[in-house]
Amino acid sequence: MIAFEEAISLVLDTCKGFGVEQVPLKESFGRVLAEDIFADRDFPPFHRATKDGIAINYDAITKSLEEFRIIDIAAAGSPQKELLDFSCCIEIMTGAVLPLSADTVIMYEHLKIKGEDAVVQKPVKKGQNIHRKGSDEPKGTTVLKVGKKITAAEIGVLASVGKSEVLVKKNPKVCLVSTGDELVDVIETPMAHQIRKSNVHTIEATLLREGIRSESVHIKDDKEITKSKLIQLLNNFDVLLLSGGVSKGKYDYLPEVLEDIGVEKVFHKVKQRPGKPFWFGQHKEKEVTVFAFPGNPASTFANYHVYFIPWLNKCLGLSTIEFTVILEEAFENSTDLTRFIRAKARIVAGKLKCNLILGNGSGDLTSLSKANGFVLLKSNKEYKSGAIVPFIATRSIL
Ligand code: AMP
Ligand code: MG
Repeated sequence: MIAFEEAISLVLDTCKGFGVEQVPLKESFGRVLAEDIFADRDFPPFHRATKDGIAINYDAITKSLEEFRIIDIAAAGSPQKELLDFSCCIEIMTGAVLPLSADTVIMYEHLKIKGEDAVVQKPVKKGQNIHRKGSDEPKGTTVLKVGKKITAAEIGVLASVGKSEVLVKKNPKVCLVSTGDELVDVIETPMAHQIRKSNVHTIEATLLREGIRSESVHIKDDKEITKSKLIQLLNNFDVLLLSGGVSKGKYDYLPEVLEDIGVEKVFHKVKQRPGKPFWFGQHKEKEVTVFAFPGNPASTFANYHVYFIPWLNKCLGLSTIEFTVILEEAFENSTDLTRFIRAKARIVAGKLKCNLILGNGSGDLTSLSKANGFVLLKSNKEYKSGAIVPFIATRSIL
């Protein structure tokens, strides 16, 4: 049995990428960029009016001219006009190209329109209300770098530079495997000795948050069936996320079967609660990583967030956000196990505080829904109220 710190570092040591692929812009949300993105033209591509009003040449103002004859109108989307006579102005709309020879825009709110003339009501500064060509990004600059996670803001940038297809890092192909003869499908009515499967559905949902559509299979507690099913899965997936069958029970075949079929054990059992019987290994030749979590829902859920998410992020070149919270109650961890205790963090006067949700052991599913993460509490340590502890979020804390 190894310590948690060693386990997480062994897991992270196995990280590797899964290649790249080209996807349509619409499907790139949440993915990680695998190419640098350059400005294909100046941003903005022309001197652009930022207000509705009139475009003038500032020289006229220096000559104390306050009244301009309106001779034309420049709308957004129309080609550039030219201001030939500086005693005149061209009405201009936000987003329109500044007319040639104009250098200043005065907004309607600072004007009085009298028939065909615009009379200036407020002091004017040369160059005002113009978003200058190339002032955001000149043509050719790198606007997004490899490794950037594509959020709504990046989608806008990609669209602006004409990327209808984007090169992104491939996500792993993940198969969720539940084990256990006591488990039935969600649509079934369990008999007295049975329970409905939940782990697969929980993990399926959390993977969707990462943009990964997983597949799932169920394996009976039978050694030969387990072996043949897992051999098939090793040929078709990058990651197997298993739940159940890794403890000391008579029907917990996974550790033995996994090694039999060539998955090299990196470790089995970690000094932690919940999730102690976690088995982790790799099939080197087939390049498959196997996370075999104990089946108790809280164990699977905690281990998924503690190990799989940082592993996935590192494989994709992303960092996992680590943050701490202020514990609002005292807690003594008198065990030699690292504890992951369900907790509810919330912002109080700008500070992140948290309360523990002491559920009913690792089988207690409903208390997971009251929490928004786990606090990590070290072995044999007494925590006072106000202690600062690491927090592993399982959902948004806002
Ligand atoms: P195991 O790790 O196989 O010994 O299972 C530990 C406990 O978790 C048992 O009570 C199982 O019934 C339960 N369990 C295992 N797999 C699942 C699952 N996929 N969904 C819900 N409970 C499960
Ligand atoms: Mg089982």
